[in-house]
Amino acid sequence: MHFLHPKRRYFCIKHQIDNNNNKMRFAFEFLVSVYCFFGMLSIGSGQDFGYEGTVGPNFWGEKYHHCIGKHQSPINIEEHNVEMVKLFPMQFENFDFVPEEAVIKNNGHTVIVTINSTKMPLISGGPLLGKYQFAQLHFHWGSDDSEGSENKINNSSYPMELHMVFFQRAYGTIQDAIDHPDGLTVLSFLYSNAEVENSNYNAITEVLPDIEEANTSLTMTNMPTFDQMLMKNRSIYFTYGGSLTTPPCSEVVTWIEFKNTIPLAHSQVIFI
Ligand SMILES: [Zn+2]
Repeated sequence: MHFLHPKRRYFCIKHQIDNNNNKMRFAFEFLVSVYCFFGMLSIGSGQDFGYEGTVGPNFWGEKYHHCIGKHQSPINIEEHNVEMVKLFPMQFENFDFVPEEAVIKNNGHTVIVTINSTKMPLISGGPLLGKYQFAQLHFHWGSDDSEGSENKINNSSYPMELHMVFFQRAYGTIQDAIDHPDGLTVLSFLYSNAEVENSNYNAITEVLPDIEEANTSLTMTNMPTFDQMLMKNRSIYFTYGGSLTTPPCSEVVTWIEFKNTIPLAHSQVIFI
């Protein structure tokens, strides 16, 4: 389902400083928004919508006025329109910690994972002020590898996209954070096709057959760490201010879209 918006925002960001010796090493980021086509980043409320007919994206604005706002997501990032800026490095805390428990759920739209851990993953630095705490992660994929991702880079889609949703810890909960312009941030990762399977995803793909039915879930104790799920080089990214991609479409999300991709075999993409 596509929904076209006028070109609307140049915002920019950048990056990067050597973690070890404080020497400037990289720089990047940028951004621009162009096309908006809706996918799903559902946070709590706003479940009475669909993607077809009178409950489809063209009608979301009637009930959820933010859905016709100026900074809606997702977007197509065109690198030639992006502004490069230098930022301090992003910090990823507890990304190497195995969560004691993870709940993986098929909510009828996507697969969502929440975790219960004594060391919750935290992010800070880069374009962010303050610390953001992990809330949930979910996947976006399509009917084939050419149209899986929500966001695009230079008009190219990728087989699948991972969204890790974090909320500003100072606000206490994700429900309270959503009322603030700096309430949420989403780390967005694109997957690329690989020849061999990415064994770090086995624990997840193995349980998917057990939650094939909508609104089923199960608990995992062998969830991979976030470092295992992601690529090592996370120093280059696009960042911009955007929104939830489903009602209520609140424009409270700092999007961070990483340029490097996560390799995943085709068999694993369709499995998810
Ligand atoms: Zn999403």
